Amino acid sequence: MGEKRDYHMSPEEFRHWGYQTIDWLVDYRQKVEEFPVLSQVEPGDIRAKLPSNAPQQGESFAEILADIDRIIMPGITHWQSPNFFGFFPAGASAPSILGELMSSGLGVLGFLWATSPACTELETHVLDWLIDMLGLPDHFKSSTGGGGVLQDTACSAAIVSVIAAREQKKADINRLVAYTSTEAHSSLEKAVRISGLRPENLRLIDIDHHYAMSPDRLEQAIKADLQAGLIPCYLAGTVGTTSSNAIDPLTRLGAIAQKYDLWFHVDGAMSGTAALCPELRWIHQGVELADSYCFNPHKWMMTNFDCNCFYVRDRLKLTNALSIMPEYLKNEATDSGKVIDYRDWQLPLSRRFKSLKLWFVIRHYGIEGLQHYVRKHVALAKEFAQWVKLDPAFKLVVNPPLNLVCFRHQGGDLINQEILNRINESGTMYLTSTKLDQKLTLRMAIGQAETERENVKLAWKLIRSVAEKIINDNDFTCQISTEKAA
Ligand SMILES: *Cc1c(COP(=O)(O)O)cnc(C)c1O
Repeated sequence: MGEKRDYHMSPEEFRHWGYQTIDWLVDYRQKVEEFPVLSQVEPGDIRAKLPSNAPQQGESFAEILADIDRIIMPGITHWQSPNFFGFFPAGASAPSILGELMSSGLGVLGFLWATSPACTELETHVLDWLIDMLGLPDHFKSSTGGGGVLQDTACSAAIVSVIAAREQKKADINRLVAYTSTEAHSSLEKAVRISGLRPENLRLIDIDHHYAMSPDRLEQAIKADLQAGLIPCYLAGTVGTTSSNAIDPLTRLGAIAQKYDLWFHVDGAMSGTAALCPELRWIHQGVELADSYCFNPHKWMMTNFDCNCFYVRDRLKLTNALSIMPEYLKNEATDSGKVIDYRDWQLPLSRRFKSLKLWFVIRHYGIEGLQHYVRKHVALAKEFAQWVKLDPAFKLVVNPPLNLVCFRHQGGDLINQEILNRINESGTMYLTSTKLDQKLTLRMAIGQAETERENVKLAWKLIRSVAEKIINDNDFTCQISTEKAA
């Protein structure tokens, strides 16, 4: 009765369980190769192990942590495994994890400069650093009229860029047209839909034989739209498409964007990181013509999800489109015009102190360390591509410009699908696929922090031996001929 109760974790408990949690993570990362890379559970398996109701009384942290092993781990696909070659790399390096921890520990929301000045100023500063680190144009720097901001993802960057383009046009939204290539990421289609443009006013421009957007086809489409009384508004080029790593011809696309007064956005989500290395900066040739640009340190730059760097040439075009000033947010610093309020650069109001982890990563590795891993992954991809080329059973679909190898078995889609299934069921490695020229194509994305030449060698050995087994498997080849006949 009247007894004072405190449900919090005590400082001593926090310290103890904090150390235990870090220990757990360090151990996990050391033995990550022991787990099947792709989780082997069936739908519903994880939920079946969870109680149907939330606990009425709090539980001990020891029990909670134990359930990570018991309930959660079987349902984990190990993105941090050196044998994860699916989709794209998602590097969660130790310094980035500590940066994330620091950010959640401080628990600040940096929507206004005034709500944590360091949160805004470190972000502005680190994003300026990255412009020099990647050799991006100076007009993206905050000291010019441009600037950078951290979004969560390339999808959000696409959405805010389409909105800025829409507002800049000040025209009938139903007549605005957006352009990108058939190989662009699906986020562009989503961005067009969300920003209120008509879905049918998105043109997916044909590609050339390198899977890059054809500038001639683009210009033809723009002319046709103008003739039909529509208003060309937005163009998105890609540096490193998701399916094949194609690099769109930015210089020619940018010239067309200028000629017809389109907002030109460049999406370098995975591949932008390559520009850390001066010898790979050719990928960004023409980016100086872009109105906006983004890349994801959370893919190939050792930074855990989420972290997208988004730059604009003219920050007013972005903030004019997104700024709303309610009474309860008014403050002196904002009124002075001397500060950046990042809430005006993104969709949500609130935002985390995300630049901390980027700052930790850049300071821990240094430019040199980050370059080392990019070079290593690119060299491994080239070597893997060479092995594919030398094997007559396989075809190298594109010469990899960077760290993604697209290849297929010569035996057709069903065999490639079976290779994929058997490899992923084996748990030894994880590979994903796409369609290029309407044919199933295997994608080997090399970029995990801990991936060594040995992992890539074993991957190739496994792919070859699985393919041979399938070819020699009479039941399977019979099944194929029946399906073909049907
Ligand atoms: C991965 C990727 C995306 C999507 O990235 P998110 O940050 O998850 O939105 C967009 N575009 C390209 C080219 C990508 O590789």
